[in-house]
Order: sequence, then C-alpha cells, then structure tokens
Amino acid sequence: MRDEQNQSRPVRRVVIAGGGTAGWMVAAAIARSLGKVLDIKLLESDEIGTVGVGEATIPTLLNFHELLQINEQEFMAATNATFKLGISFENWRNTSEDYIHSFGLTGTDHWTAGFQHFWRKGRERKLASDYGDYCLELKAAQLNRFGHLPRQGINYAYHLDASAYARYLRKYSEGYGAQRIEGKIAKVHTDAASGHITALQLDSGAVIEGDLFIDCTGFRALLIGETLGEAFDDWSQWLHNDSAIAVQTASTGAAVPYTRAIAHDWGWQWRIPLQHRVGNGMVFSSKFVDDDTARAKLMAGITGEQLVQPRVIRFKPGQRRKVWRKNCVAIGLSSGFLEPIESTSIHLIQRAIVRLMQMFPSAGIYQSEIDEYNKQAWAEIEHIRDFIILHYKVTNRRDTPFWRHCAGMAVPPSLQHRIDLFRETGRVFRLSNELFAENSWIQVMLGQGILPQQHHPSADLMGDAELSHFLDSIRSNVARSVAQLPPHQQYVENYCAAY
Ligand code: FAD
Repeated sequence: MRDEQNQSRPVRRVVIAGGGTAGWMVAAAIARSLGKVLDIKLLESDEIGTVGVGEATIPTLLNFHELLQINEQEFMAATNATFKLGISFENWRNTSEDYIHSFGLTGTDHWTAGFQHFWRKGRERKLASDYGDYCLELKAAQLNRFGHLPRQGINYAYHLDASAYARYLRKYSEGYGAQRIEGKIAKVHTDAASGHITALQLDSGAVIEGDLFIDCTGFRALLIGETLGEAFDDWSQWLHNDSAIAVQTASTGAAVPYTRAIAHDWGWQWRIPLQHRVGNGMVFSSKFVDDDTARAKLMAGITGEQLVQPRVIRFKPGQRRKVWRKNCVAIGLSSGFLEPIESTSIHLIQRAIVRLMQMFPSAGIYQSEIDEYNKQAWAEIEHIRDFIILHYKVTNRRDTPFWRHCAGMAVPPSLQHRIDLFRETGRVFRLSNELFAENSWIQVMLGQGILPQQHHPSADLMGDAELSHFLDSIRSNVARSVAQLPPHQQYVENYCAAY
C-alpha cells in the first residue's frame, strides 16, 4: 500500500534542511551512494549556526567512514581528532570511585557462560584482580597508550572538532555533487491535500522544491515538529537533566584516549581532549541547580585558557514518536535527544542514514516502508535510553537530593529486568541489533556497583590451578599487548604528521 496521503512519484530531489553534523553526514552518505541519480540540496544558515557540541564518538563511526571510504589520517588531521578507547566514569558509583566503560571485550567467554562468571568465581577464591585487567582497551586507556595493533586489533573511536567535521563533510559532499544553499528557511510549503512538504522558502524569497525532505534543523525541528506537528515522547521522568553549559579551553597537557564523565551533586561534567583544545561541559538538571552554580562549578574544575564564552543549551530528553512522517525524515537533534553520557547521538545519526539508504524510496513513498523505518528507529533508541538510565539508577550515591531521586525512581520494565537478571544471576543477553553488547552492560553494571549474587556452574568445574591459569594468561596477554603501545599523544602526533 502506498502512503495514504500518497506520494507516488519517484524521489529524485532530496532537500536537507540544516547543515550541522547531521545535515552534512546525511549529505555525504547520500551524495556518495546516490549522487549520480539524485539532485541533493542542503540549506543552512550561518546566522543561526549549529549546536557546536558533539565531539565524542563510539567505534561505529569507523564503519561510517569505511562506507564513505574516508582516509583516517586525512580525517584526523582535518578535525584535530584524537583516539578514544572508552569513557572514564568518575564519582558515579560513589564519590571518589571511578571506573572505565571501554570499547573492548573483557576476557574470553565460554559457550555456556560469559567471562564475568569465571571472573566472579576467581574473585571469590581470591584468584582474580580487577575486572578491567582483562580488557586490552581498558588497560590501554588507563595507561594512556594507543596504537592500531594490526594483528589482534583494538576497538576505538574518536574525539573530534564538531565544526571542523561538518566543514570536512561539506567539502566531501560537494565533491560528490551535493549543493549547499545559504539562507534562513522562512516558510515551509505543504500540499493542502496530502500534507506533504513541497518546498522550503528562504528569507531571500528563493523557493527550493523537493520530493524528500530531511529535517536536520537541530532542536528547532522546523519540519517534523513545527510544520508536521509530530508528537514528542518526553523521557524526563527517567532522565532529569535538561541543560548543559559548554566551553572550550586550550590543551594544557597530553590528550588522554578517553572521555571523562565526572559526576557532581546534580549532574555531570564532560572533558573531551582534542589535539589542539579541550571540550568541556556541564550537564545538569535545572530542577536541582541553577545556571550560575553549574557554570561556577564547571569553570572551577577546568584548566587552560578559555577560548570561548560558556554557552547554556537547553534540551528535552526524548524522541519523536515517528521520525519519518509523510515525505519528511528527521535525523539528528530534530528527531530526539539523549544526553551525551555514552556519546550516542552521532551514532544514531549514522544509523538513521544507513536505515534510510536501505529503505531509500526511489520509486515513491510507501507507508509500509515508513512504518518499518519508524519501528526500527524506536527499538534502537529505547535500548540506548535504558542503558543511559542505568547510570543514574544503579548507584550507591545517596549524598544529594539529585542522587537520592535517581536511585529511588522507577525505571522502564525492560531496564529493571536487565538489572535484576544481572544482580541475581550474573547473566546479560544482547538482543538482535542492540547497540550495547554484553561487555558494555557488564562493565557499567559492575562499575556502578552491582556484584552478581551467583555465577554459572561452568565456573565451578574449574579447580583453583586451572582457573588461576585461565585468568592469569588473559591478564598477562593484555599487559603484554598494552606494553607494546606508545603513549597516546605521541602516536596521534606521528600518525597525523605522516599524512
Ligand atoms: P545542529 O548542529 O543544531 O544543526 C542544525 C542546523 O540547522 C544548522 O546548520 C542550522 O543553521 C540549521 N537551521 C536551523 N534552523 C534553520 C533555519 N530556519 N534556516 C536554515 N537553517 C536552519 N553527540 C555525540 O555523539 N557525542 C557527544 O559527545 C555529544 N555531546 C553533546 C553535548 C550536548 C550538550 C548536546 C546538546 C549534544 C551533544 N551531542 C553529542 C549531540 C550532537 O551535538 C548532535 O547530535 C550533532 O551535533 C547533530 O546536531 P544537528 O546537526 O542535528 O543540529
């Protein structure tokens, strides 16, 4: 069945509204894959600008770059990028206790049971050290080392300059035929009968017509929200933070290969090291603290020359019920937002792009395709939402009203089930295409303070000598590999200079 409001004509003209990270990622991917058969226009306004944050990524960005055949050294040099092996969560479980959620696998699984069961048994018998000692990426992050390790590989992502990344992708997209149009969108024209968007009108009077419109206008959500009125599912009953203050400072030391997420009494602070500067920000709940106090706390905790004035950004956690409606697909902040604690927004942009490419409506827009797209997008973000709520729900902190509130709140049943299953049995299962695999859930649940009550019986079958040998050999392999790696900063400098 075609979309009841019907757009039976083929899609030949794609109009992307907005040129932040989302807009240019979309333009790059569509231009690269379908640029020869489509007319691609991107509209953006220098006067409005972009949100200007979003600098920590996760390893899936490497897949996106692979699709676009982007040269890593060229990209890193252009965006002043550094490598990222995970996130250091400081003061989340308790004040003065830290853990790293790394991108690596920990230990070796048995077909019946994950490594965590053997580690737990080893811990009970005093044969095991820290869980992180069995993970290459985590140890490398802790010791501030990095290298590509071609033989066994290392799982990593990047910290990047968001504005430079948009510029880089703009050049790339234009090289594949995408056309940029500067100007403020003043009016969105729709067809009275179908409700479909027909054209965007700039304040200069220019009218840009299209068949498919991609809303990348950021929190404004000019097309999907303001024009089409798509509902927004508000998740602030679980995610209390609604504000951020961002500021950039000059680097004062070597860049570490991890993002720092430092919990405070009513929110948390990020620190993202690039080659030339550091991105800093405070994410907080306006219900628990005012802007001035949050700003003062942020500024007191950072070093290095301040490069810009601190900016307050307001947001609402949640997601549009439908991110594809009629002939409009919302990608990026216009589609919804989850706070950046696990750096998932750019990943969601990339997933939306891949999904759109897989379902590209060349022959016309079908309702079945819209429904499928929306179903997949919803399942994906719900899973990520749960993972983010986990960081607030599972904590030993009860020292402030904010943390008491987080620890006491009821969470979605899907998350409560995962927490209960891990606490009671040590088991975690990844379902279908979920982003966060067992390793991530385990690192964060252990890190936030859950020690499972049980382990799998397979671990009991090992005697002390066998279990000790098993654990020691993994730990020493990890230590040997990490010892081969150079300091992260030195590796980045040499790698980018070699381009
Ligand atoms: P924007 O950057 O806001 O771009 C919107 C575009 O639309 C701009 O080009 C603007 O000019 C244009 N526009 C708007 N209205 C009009 C109009 N009327 N006419 C013409 N053009 C218009 N993500 C991560 O993955 N990792 C992170 O570490 C991370 N940290 C974040 C921290 C904070 C505090 C916030 C708020 C977000 C963070 N994100 C992070 C999310 C990330 O910043 C965004 O996903 C990403 O920047 C994409 O934004 P966007 O392109 O959708 O919107």
